[in-house]
Amino acid sequence: MDKIERMKELTARLNKYAYQYYVLDEPTVSDKEYDELYNELLLLEKETGTTLPDSPTRKIGGDPIKEFKPHTHLKKLYSLDKCNSFEELREWDAKIKKLAPDVIYTLEYKLDGLTLSLTYENGYYKGAATRGNGETGEDVTAQVSTIKSIPLSVPYKGTFEAQGEGIMRLSALKKYNETAAEPLKNARNGVAGAIRNLDPKVTAARNLDIIFYNVNYIEGKDIDSQRDSIAFLKENGFKTEMLFVSGNMEEIIGRINSVDRKALDFLIDGMVIKVDDMRLRERLGYTDKFPRWAMAYKFEAEETTTVLKDVVWNVGRTGKLTPLAVLEPVELCGATVSRATLNNYGDIVRKKVKKGSRVFVRRSNDVIPEILGVAEDNGGSEIVKPEVCPACGTLLVESGALLYCPNENGCPPQITGRIEHFVSKDCMDIRGISEKSVAQLYEKLGVRSVTDLYYLKAEDVAGLEGYKDKKIENFISSVEKSKSVPLDRFINALGIENVGKKTARDLALRFKSISALMNADRETLLEIEDIGEIVADSIMSYFGKHGALIEKFREIGIDPKIERQDAAGVFSGKKFVLTGTLPSYTRAEATKLIESAGGEVMSSVSKETDFVLAGDNAGSKLEKARQKGIKIISEKEFISLLNS
Ligand code: NAD
Repeated sequence: MDKIERMKELTARLNKYAYQYYVLDEPTVSDKEYDELYNELLLLEKETGTTLPDSPTRKIGGDPIKEFKPHTHLKKLYSLDKCNSFEELREWDAKIKKLAPDVIYTLEYKLDGLTLSLTYENGYYKGAATRGNGETGEDVTAQVSTIKSIPLSVPYKGTFEAQGEGIMRLSALKKYNETAAEPLKNARNGVAGAIRNLDPKVTAARNLDIIFYNVNYIEGKDIDSQRDSIAFLKENGFKTEMLFVSGNMEEIIGRINSVDRKALDFLIDGMVIKVDDMRLRERLGYTDKFPRWAMAYKFEAEETTTVLKDVVWNVGRTGKLTPLAVLEPVELCGATVSRATLNNYGDIVRKKVKKGSRVFVRRSNDVIPEILGVAEDNGGSEIVKPEVCPACGTLLVESGALLYCPNENGCPPQITGRIEHFVSKDCMDIRGISEKSVAQLYEKLGVRSVTDLYYLKAEDVAGLEGYKDKKIENFISSVEKSKSVPLDRFINALGIENVGKKTARDLALRFKSISALMNADRETLLEIEDIGEIVADSIMSYFGKHGALIEKFREIGIDPKIERQDAAGVFSGKKFVLTGTLPSYTRAEATKLIESAGGEVMSSVSKETDFVLAGDNAGSKLEKARQKGIKIISEKEFISLLNS
């Protein structure tokens, strides 16, 4: 195809997508797909030296919609130039350094939300607007007023416009989606749809936040740098997130590499590097669309769209059925994605997905990709709710949005799933068993309950594929050793629905034995912090049904306890200082353990300190302990002391 023809085609498609994204807040393609087409257009414009009059490369955002009153910004709001590699970032730096060798840059998150500009006059919040096309935005004063974190009055009395990104925190999104009739596809969509909504009640319900990064206009004060801008915002009560300042691009790249996106409670799609000095910014100037003094380094996209081909149902150890989406394979974050999770049947109904739908898929590295919702409803067939268990054919039971197979003792994946969980590291830690060997234990040795493991003999195991002398010995001794597992790990191993590692620990500390936990009533369980009605009911229902199993464990010799007098005594009178990140306990949890064993936690190292419990990245406290010759212990040593 002729280059100009292709440019016309790309322009038409991109303009359609931009309209759906900016004006309707209903994108039908992912940012990744949009950016790929946009970059192709940019390249063609460079090659041909032509820019079509309606090219999206000339335009900022979308035009305001007429339902909102227009707001003319006191100064134009721009987009950002973008790059995808450190090489491009270095080239940009080299260009700037030719003009200003001593340039200083600031580094900020590129927040993935909606640009908002707030106007203040005489020390009061006067109004707020979206970016719109950069010159004129939509007046969203009432909507933004519902955001609790914005200051309604400020110490500065002159007129100014503060620019920031309206965001929906991921925790707020999760909470909202748990009960929403129609779940939000992502946090960016969540915030855009809530702000550009004529009913401020909708905005309020989404629990939004704004992080500010720019004083776009100000009267009566000189702001000389980005650092000044951020300091001014902070002094006036705005939330800000400046990360790093340096003139050295390699240092900035190092800092970008250390950013852990997964640890943040908001979406970022990159990092923004800005020239700090305002006078230098003026010298560098602007294109129609973006300033030449800033650059967005974009991270690899985590979202894309693809076709949902089918849904298969898996049965977990609790009998719960989970739908797994089979996808048209698609590249995402350096991997080919062909499967994704759809939490449950209720999720399928709420997200309106069908076989054949084009859907949004999100992959955040270590977690299984997730289907966010439909991109385009292009027909397709309904996903049928199964009536019988796909593994054992038993009639399913429905509970809220969930489907269960009630055949607890006869459904193979439930049995093997329970064994896999029971032997895992955070539970009984029985070595030498893989998923494959669990299947063999089930099929060849007739293991049907976790307690059967304790009756296996070396000669039984010898018949299994891959089991030779050393491995058999390991397995048998590991099974034996597991009989003296700590109480919290045993509770976790039982696989009580809604009880994970942390709750198991809380229960162990509170009840100190299985019989005390079994006899606890609902009210007592609810007294424990973080245990709500659902968890309490799960515990009650588990022990209601499994008294015989617990008795069987006792017969085998498994009945772990935290001895009260021992527990009180182990660290009696001992003073601890915690430093660094422990592999499996939070500070609060470690503190609880120390205190329940009679010890005390101090905030700083002194000659009175008995132990410094040190984890990863321990800092000055560790150094001080070394200098003072105080005993330093790891989490492993700590646990063995606690259990001694
Ligand atoms: P952008 O959103 O990628 O970058 C500019 C914006 O970044 C600014 O306006 C500001 O709101 C924001 N930002 C966040 N943190 C910032 C910080 N610390 N400092 C300064 N600004 C910060 O650019 P854009 O022009 O608003 O939108 C273009 C992008 O939108 C595309 O690259 C694409 O990913 C997406 N888009 C998607 C579709 C779609 O259909 N999926 C359509 C159109 C646009």
